[in-house]
Amino acid sequence: MTETSQDRPLEVACPQCRTKVAWTADNPYRPFCSKRCRLLDLGAWADESHRIAGEPAMDETDLDRLIDDLERGEPRQ
Ligand SMILES: [Zn+2]
Repeated sequence: MTETSQDRPLEVACPQCRTKVAWTADNPYRPFCSKRCRLLDLGAWADESHRIAGEPAMDETDLDRLIDDLERGEPRQ
């Protein structure tokens, strides 16, 4: 007797916000729940090396621009 688990995709917790997210091919941002969380995680360490005294922290506008850049640079899946 064999069991299939195709109806139940693996779920992982987003490292950023802990939202449960299905680990499927439909989610190119796994293990993150969304593009934003993935970028936030990326920005977390990028901020460490790019921090400049007097520079304001990355805000929503910068984040959106960064997302646009990444989308252009990354192959679509
Ligand atoms: Zn998330």
